[in-house]
Amino acid sequence: MGFDLLNKLNIVVAICNRQTLAPSYSSSKFKAIIGECGEAIFNLFESKYQQFSREQVLAVNAQSPYAFTIQLKAERTRKTIKVIMSDYDEDQLMIVGQDITELKKLEYSLQSYASLMETQEKNLIKLAYTDSLTGIANRRAMFKRFNDYTQNQNQNQNQNQNKNPNNTKGSISVLDIDHFKQFNDDYGHEFGDYVLKYFAEKVTLALDNDCYFSRIGGEEFCVFSYTRNGAELTKLIDTVLDSIKCCEILTPEKNITQLSFSAGIVEYTNHGTTLDELLSNADKALYFAKATGRGQVISFSTDLLAKHEVKPIPKFREIKR
Ligand code: GH3
Ligand code: MG
Ligand code: MG
Repeated sequence: MGFDLLNKLNIVVAICNRQTLAPSYSSSKFKAIIGECGEAIFNLFESKYQQFSREQVLAVNAQSPYAFTIQLKAERTRKTIKVIMSDYDEDQLMIVGQDITELKKLEYSLQSYASLMETQEKNLIKLAYTDSLTGIANRRAMFKRFNDYTQNQNQNQNQNQNKNPNNTKGSISVLDIDHFKQFNDDYGHEFGDYVLKYFAEKVTLALDNDCYFSRIGGEEFCVFSYTRNGAELTKLIDTVLDSIKCCEILTPEKNITQLSFSAGIVEYTNHGTTLDELLSNADKALYFAKATGRGQVISFSTDLLAKHEVKPIPKFREIKR
């Protein structure tokens, strides 16, 4: 009966009467089992863990009527004991107890390590998709978001095949700050950075949850609306432009300067199905907005550049900010 071996392995065993819990066998570390089950189990370990009083039993967690873990505490020592009761024969139960304190400690360290790794991985992903200057999404994030969006749209369309095949909505606007370089030239790169942060903050506040806002280049930003069509997004970006034009920025020399942007709008899928295609067409509308006066929002159309005469883009010095 390898009970001695079990003792060496820090496992205690008792065989007891199913009704009375009186022991017919207890390993050398066992005391008599008395009283009802919980009491009996405590007593079972009392001899082995004499330093613990009954009040120091922190918790008895039952996984089933036949399996328990007991947590013991005395001053600085904590012990976790696993107890399993099983049928020994018709009249008797076998009770096995094992000190799993070290195992639990190891499990806890592994869990902490795993959660640390998980947090670090999340932070790295966040970093990869965040623009470090403004804290908003970056170009990579925008491409990912658009990919997710189009995949969703395709799935929805497959599910509702015959219902509304052309019911895909969504539109994109590219915003480019007007004469941004002048901020750098007049007040230094640091002030230019400040303007970029300020701009990102103000636009974020002016947008709603339907919009995904990202910085896709130096002083170029992108607003991706999931549900608005081109006309609806134009309206929104016009409002954003009005609010940006009203902002007053204090220069390092304590003068007030102002800000505006030009924007191009494209509609998914009318003006492209890939983000590259959409951004390229939005850029054409943006170019038109720059060339015809800046500080305006222009929707892309295939005959946009052909229909209108585009004057050369005026230089900053020719324009009063
Ligand atoms: P336009 O109205 O035609 O758009 O003129 P612009 O001056 O805004 O555009 P341009 O392309 O001539 O200049 C953009 C400048 O933005 C050039 C570049 O040095 C600056 N820039 C790009 N990224 C950053 C940045 O992260 N911080 C700062 N401070 N400047 C940047
Ligand atoms: Mg630009
Ligand atoms: Mg610009």
